[in-house]
Amino acid sequence: MTKGQFPTAKFQDMQTPFYYYDTELLRETLRAINSEAQKHDGFCVHYAVKANANPRILRIIREAGLGADCVSGGEIEASVKAGFPSTKIVYAGVGKSDWEINLGLDNDIFCFNVESIPELEVINGLAAAKGKVARVAFRLNPNVGAHTHANITTGLAENKFGIDMRDMLKVIEEAQGMANVKVVGLHFHIGSQILDMGDFEALCNRVNDLQLELERHQIRVDHINVGGGLGVDYQHPNRVSIPDFKSYFDTYAKKLKLRPGQTLHFELGRAVVAQCGSLITRTLYIKEGSVKKFAIVDAGFTDLIRPALYQAYHKIENLSSEEEPDTYDVVGPICESTDVFAKQIDLNCTHRGDLLAIRSAGAYGEIMASQYNCRRLPTGYMSDEI
Ligand SMILES: *Cc1c(COP(=O)(O)O)cnc(C)c1O
Repeated sequence: MTKGQFPTAKFQDMQTPFYYYDTELLRETLRAINSEAQKHDGFCVHYAVKANANPRILRIIREAGLGADCVSGGEIEASVKAGFPSTKIVYAGVGKSDWEINLGLDNDIFCFNVESIPELEVINGLAAAKGKVARVAFRLNPNVGAHTHANITTGLAENKFGIDMRDMLKVIEEAQGMANVKVVGLHFHIGSQILDMGDFEALCNRVNDLQLELERHQIRVDHINVGGGLGVDYQHPNRVSIPDFKSYFDTYAKKLKLRPGQTLHFELGRAVVAQCGSLITRTLYIKEGSVKKFAIVDAGFTDLIRPALYQAYHKIENLSSEEEPDTYDVVGPICESTDVFAKQIDLNCTHRGDLLAIRSAGAYGEIMASQYNCRRLPTGYMSDEI
């Protein structure tokens, strides 16, 4: 949506800051995902719940038929509550607690993505206590770098995630000796905000090599899960509001050699929800320093932490002004110097009371909100409810 499409008049009387979700764009994005993924046999798309677990958002995504990718017991609960069938829930994470594993077992989830042998032993024991067999996939660290921010690469040998791929056979053989786990897949996830299809291609090549190695030992898994990571265009949320799902799925279709009957699973988070969300904030003060002007707004990093955490860029628009642009640092009220949304950006001349939209904030925004400084958590509103 462009600046003119925000219901700015309706926003006037609303308590700021708040998240505003364009449900039409979300639905359009989901249609694009389904139509591109369904061109390829055996492709199953899960939504990475950690990107945004707002119940209304989850419900829309579930209605589109996606599965859920969870990284905690709380996310499993949120997914079940939103109506995701347990046969479409996968659960990953380096530190699964016993209660979280038990929750997954009680719900008969599709698969545990296991990140270590000690974890496998615990799952086997807890499943035995319930007289169940847990389906597991091993999360392997493919040692594939991604061209993205260093804090959000996950597939390098130095990262804490996954099992060293050189140990693949050893861990599978170990699992085969356990009565209450069944190895059904291999799992990977190389990072986030990836726009270079070459990175996904590198992962495909790695998976192909690993599958050959498995075959040499007469091992065949039912599914391959390549995680998520597809990025969005933070610079141009209006022009590129839907990510290039065609190139993404086509890359995997072309490069990853699936065996007959194998399914290929994806776990997309950011690409599903980032562009449909904006953080709407009100300008409190314009403060003229000796070298720059600050637009001080009522949202802070407690509402949207990505700029403070990763130096992430979010496009900002003044919804209330069409005046000649001026240059501002847009900052929040939190007592930390990192509470800055943008430095030296052009905004239409901004005054106290003006509403600003911080764009592409639907992923890793509302869900990461905190109450530091005893602040209130922001509310999320859907475009079809206000
Ligand atoms: C975070 C995460 C995802 C989703 O990543 P996006 O970059 O938001 O697509 C998928 N799988 C796992 C295991 C994750 O931890």
